[in-house]
Amino acid sequence: MGTPGAFCISCGAALQPDHRFCPKCGAERWTPAGESPAARPPPGPGTQPFERTPPVPAASPRLRWLPFVFAAGSIFWLIQLVQFAAVLSAPAGRDQLRQALTQAGLSGDVTTLLVAESVIVVLFMGTAAALHAAAYFGLRALRPWGWITAVIVAAAWSLILVGIPVLLVLLRRTTRRAYGIS
Ligand SMILES: [Zn+2]
Repeated sequence: MGTPGAFCISCGAALQPDHRFCPKCGAERWTPAGESPAARPPPGPGTQPFERTPPVPAASPRLRWLPFVFAAGSIFWLIQLVQFAAVLSAPAGRDQLRQALTQAGLSGDVTTLLVAESVIVVLFMGTAAALHAAAYFGLRALRPWGWITAVIVAAAWSLILVGIPVLLVLLRRTTRRAYGIS
């Protein structure tokens, strides 16, 4: 066999895997019947095994900016939330909000209205920030649900027009394909 550690059957000299004849006495290398040692020489010591790198799914380089639009949107809504909380926590801010409610022609207990308004605003801003964050992480991970969340968020933004260009990018066939939506 053409394995390392073979020896000449005539003189006992060590044979390298590529030696068909003994380098010392010239005898032909013994091989089991039917095997052809020269047919396929074993790899030499310098041969590196070919390492296969697993294919990494990657978004098109043109789309790398897309998740960050939604990260920016999440930060925007978190800032809005903090600003609203700051207005609510200050007595002057609460007075301003009460005045605005009264001027809007709302009747009834203004304090109750203010609590209701605050709950609605905080829920809205919190949901908006969470949806933007979900779209960011889903798009980064190339998940179909990331694309769906991004479309919902961009559609909401389209009501005030700024979401339309993002929505158009999301709905392109190449984008849909990158996120597994056909
Ligand atoms: Zn020999």
